[in-house]
Amino acid sequence: MKTLNKMLNININEPLIIAGPCAIENEEQIIEIAEFLKKNGVNILRGGAFKPRTDPNAFQGLGSKGLELLKLAKEKTGMMVVTEVMDIMQIEEISEVADILQIGSRNMFNYSLLKEIGKCNKPVILKRSMSARIFEWIKAAEYISKYGNDKIIFCERGIRSFETYTRNTLDLAVVPIIKKETGLPIIVDPSHGTGVRELVEPMACAALACGADGIMIEIHPNPEKALSDGIQSLNFSETEHVISKLKEFHKSIAV
Ligand code: PEP
Ligand code: MN
Repeated sequence: MKTLNKMLNININEPLIIAGPCAIENEEQIIEIAEFLKKNGVNILRGGAFKPRTDPNAFQGLGSKGLELLKLAKEKTGMMVVTEVMDIMQIEEISEVADILQIGSRNMFNYSLLKEIGKCNKPVILKRSMSARIFEWIKAAEYISKYGNDKIIFCERGIRSFETYTRNTLDLAVVPIIKKETGLPIIVDPSHGTGVRELVEPMACAALACGADGIMIEIHPNPEKALSDGIQSLNFSETEHVISKLKEFHKSIAV
C-alpha cells in the first residue's frame, strides 16, 4: 500500500478501487459513471478509448474522441484516470490525459511497446498476458523498468486454461508470489478474470484476502446495452454493494 501510494501520489489506507466501463461509449455514459464513482469514494476511473477486440468488426472504442471524453470526466470529477495504450503511436496522446497507462493482456509480450512505456514518467498497470507464466510477466515488467520507469503495478486478469465455465481462470496465487519476487504492488481484475458478473464480488474479496493492493472492475449503467463486456459488468446498485462489501471485508481482515 505504501509503495502504491507513493507511485500514485495519493494517500489511502484501504485497497485501491479502480472502476469504470470496459469502453467509453459516449459523453453521457462516461460522465454518469464518473460522477457515480466519485460519489461512492472510488479512487480511479478506468475506461477504454482504444480497445483491443477479438473481432475486428466489433466496436473498437472511440479512439481519440474517447480520450477527450475521459479528459472531460476527469475535469468534472477530479478523479485520476487510467486507459489502455495499444500502440507506441498512441503514447503521446494518451499521456496528455491519463494519470496511469495500462498495458493490456494482449500487449504484455509487445516488447517494443514496453520499451517505449519504460521511457514514460507515468505509473503503468501491466496486465498479465492470458498465456504468460509468472517469469515472463516479471520479465515484461523488467522491459519497462530497464528503460527508466519503475512505477509498475501488476494486474492479474486471469489466464487461459482448459476450463470454459469462466472466461479465464483467475490465478490468485500470483498475488503473494509477485509481491515476494518483485516488491511491487499488484491489483486483481475479477471482471476479466472470471467473465461472470456474479463472481466479481467473491473473487474481489478473495483477492484482498491474499494481499492484493487493489481491485479493478468493469461497470456500466446498463450492462445489457454495453458495447463491450456487458456480461461481466456490474450495474450501479451491484457496484455500490461490491464497494461497501470490499471496505467491510478489508476492515475484517486488516491486522
Ligand atoms: C481492459 O481492461 O480493458 C482489457 C481489455 O483487459 P485485458 O487486457 O485484461 O483483456
Ligand atoms: Mn473489458
